[in-house]
Amino acid sequence: MFLVLGIDAATWTIVSPNLDKLPNFQRLSNMGKAKEVTLKEKPLSAPIWCGMFCGKTPEEHGHEAFVAGGDIVKRENINVDFIWDILDREGKKVRVMNVPFVIPPYSFNVGFKPIGFGLPTNEKEWWEELQTVTEKTKELMGENPDVLISVYSLLDRIQHFHWGEDCVLEWYERVDEKLGEIMDTGFLDNANNKLIVISDHGFCSFGDAKVQTLPEQTPEGTLKGDHHENALVITVDVDYEIERPQDVFYAIREAVGW
Ligand SMILES: [Zn+2]
Repeated sequence: MFLVLGIDAATWTIVSPNLDKLPNFQRLSNMGKAKEVTLKEKPLSAPIWCGMFCGKTPEEHGHEAFVAGGDIVKRENINVDFIWDILDREGKKVRVMNVPFVIPPYSFNVGFKPIGFGLPTNEKEWWEELQTVTEKTKELMGENPDVLISVYSLLDRIQHFHWGEDCVLEWYERVDEKLGEIMDTGFLDNANNKLIVISDHGFCSFGDAKVQTLPEQTPEGTLKGDHHENALVITVDVDYEIERPQDVFYAIREAVGW
């Protein structure tokens, strides 16, 4: 099984200095390769998640934002083959859930209802997303697909509202615990299994961000953080070097067969 766990907005800025409190990030970093991807494109979630799974740059896939010309962009409006479309046509067993290149996040061969329309905004919804994505991911792993892609979006929302506060690390600790639950299914015991844990961009304080992704004042409050161009990636037993988001497409393609 090739498992891709996406963690929207996860950053080494929080993880590296706190590895003693994040034992599963630590364990995976030790087992595999931990590195930083510095984005050449703007650190925007929609085009990056899109490029990660279709292998194309933003110029090539043309999907710039969740909304275009006043309309919510749908999967059908993006003229690309994603890795799951290709593998599914080839008869591979592919499961995809909660990938936020569109709103609500996209699922393929999986019935999944994104929490808060994919934009969880309060503690209750963050907990709910953490629990439901983890449970569904474990359930799908039990079906032993060739490829499983599953994404958590909560850290992006938490960091926009709480960057600089203690609760940010607490949520990383909760995510870390869930990573542990997923790994403790025996996934890492099978030498054929491959893992990528990856974020679409990092995070920084609102004033330090080169690109402002949201207005500072929102109906939910004043924003304290925004996207940074350094993303996190950890791979276990993946030969293909992940230097940019698009390489995830090629890493899966190489491992699961041309
Ligand atoms: Zn994002």
